Amino acid sequence: MLYVAGKLLGQRLFKKLMKMTFYGHFVAGEDQESIQPLIRHNKAFGVGTILDYGVEEDLGSEEAEHRKMESCTSPAERDGSGTNKWEKQYQAHWAFGDRRHGVISACTYFYANEAKCDSHMETLLSCIEASGAANDDDFAIKLTALGRPQFLLQFSDRPTKWRCFFHQMAAEQGQVGLAAMDTKLEVAVLQESITKVDITSRAEIEDWFTAETLGVSGTVYLQDWSSLIDSRTKLSKHLVVPNAQTGQLEPLLSQFTEEEELQMTRMLQQMGILANKATEVGVRLMVDAEQTYFQPAISHLTQEMQRRFNVERPLIFSTHQCYLKDAYDNVTLDVELARREGWCFGSKLVRGAYMAQERARAAEIGCEDPINPTYEATNAMYHRCLDHVLEELKHNTKAKVMVATHNEDSVRFTLRRMEELCLHPAGHQVYFGQLLGMCDQISFPLGQAGYPVYKYVPYGPVMDVLPYPFRHTLENSSLMKGARRERQLLWLELFRRLRTGSFFHRPA
Ligand SMILES: Cc1cc2nc3c(=O)[nH]c(=O)nc-3n(C[C@H](O)[C@H](O)[C@H](O)COP(=O)(O)OP(=O)(O)OC[C@H]3O[C@@H](n4cnc5c(N)ncnc54)[C@H](O)[C@@H]3O)c2cc1C
Repeated sequence: MLYVAGKLLGQRLFKKLMKMTFYGHFVAGEDQESIQPLIRHNKAFGVGTILDYGVEEDLGSEEAEHRKMESCTSPAERDGSGTNKWEKQYQAHWAFGDRRHGVISACTYFYANEAKCDSHMETLLSCIEASGAANDDDFAIKLTALGRPQFLLQFSDRPTKWRCFFHQMAAEQGQVGLAAMDTKLEVAVLQESITKVDITSRAEIEDWFTAETLGVSGTVYLQDWSSLIDSRTKLSKHLVVPNAQTGQLEPLLSQFTEEEELQMTRMLQQMGILANKATEVGVRLMVDAEQTYFQPAISHLTQEMQRRFNVERPLIFSTHQCYLKDAYDNVTLDVELARREGWCFGSKLVRGAYMAQERARAAEIGCEDPINPTYEATNAMYHRCLDHVLEELKHNTKAKVMVATHNEDSVRFTLRRMEELCLHPAGHQVYFGQLLGMCDQISFPLGQAGYPVYKYVPYGPVMDVLPYPFRHTLENSSLMKGARRERQLLWLELFRRLRTGSFFHRPA
């Protein structure tokens, strides 16, 4: 569509028109140079910048679906000579090939080839460098820009199954209905249960669960359990469960092929390179959360990086999506893990950008809807998660959170809780975040009042970034709600200035 419009109007006129409308409103500029005036303007009002190199190709739906299926399946699966060994949540589906559908506040990458990923890497590295030079700017990354998404899907399958197995064992031990953080297995009973399945000797099972891997308490929490699949591949080879349909025993965790292992190493290396560069230039990296079928892998890889790089301060921020039913479990487990392992917790709390798509996909493939049933439930979840993190911040001065929302109630809630918990804005433990072009009536007063507040600032060449703000404008009804509120506030401010004769506002 954009391509056709560009052809009809001519590139120059089209670009000019876009800069005066969608692009000009939601995107800061074409390159590091041209975005500087906006960054300086925001800074003058106490509003920082999180750069988001938002290049999204203007693919047609068919091309997007094709690319997604190509990148999320192996050649054997595509030509029908091989079967997919992953759970259906972690398989690619044609109907949802176009991952942009219904997504309004995030841009989307489609895998083309490794060379394209390498070029994304180069761009990200130069952006991180520039963010460092500009002082105080942070940087956002999407892991789907870095590699073949097939790997993220497959990798997501493992921790999810492993977690389910833990809950299954916990249910056998009578631990039902507890929060994930409070659920624990008695190791002796666990060993007994596994011995009954008769997959290996008692001595070997005892060797899996030693004091060295699990401590001496005789119980195992989900946090310890999750780390077992990384360090004890032996264990994942042996663990088999009966398949309800065939009655056969099958490996609980599918083994990675050599190629898949290579991809994982490659992605970890790329993240390492980005994190090293960020450390070198003193920039925080915000790892964005994406669709649920990628998210367990993204969270896992982010955590690996946090272990390595969040030693003195949280350099790498993960993202928690509170529209998920299991958001509170995820947040509490991650806070606890950071505490136990001694690294600095850093997270961006969002509601979540992929709701419509997630719901439609779950209905289509017959899985449970991962999203909270109502908007009110998501709001309650957001505040519950936020409250838990703020309590943590009170006791742990190195932990930090970004309250990334346009919701005025959530901002008010945060300010009230900060006051109650004596979390002073100057302590820079609680940051606020909004998208460029949205809810300036929240960002600027916060910045002026001394709260650390940041705008997510997409930038990039007009024709490459345009699909993102264009979709944003077409699909975002909550944007229109926000715009009405902004218009109302602008009229009030105009009347105030006319009444008091103070026509120009200078930042304090
Ligand atoms: C700085 C920043 C960074 C962001 N980074 C990410 C990111 O990494 N990953 C990501 O996924 N999103 C990200 N987002 C987008 C974010 O998740 C939200 O989509 C967006 O901010 C709108 O939510 P809100 O909290 O601002 O406010 P609101 O407008 O109050 O909430 C709208 C949100 O509520 C939820 N919701 C709406 N209706 C229902 C319903 N019926 N049932 C259940 N839930 C419902 C949805 O999540 C919806 O987006 C980011 C946003 C910001 C400001």
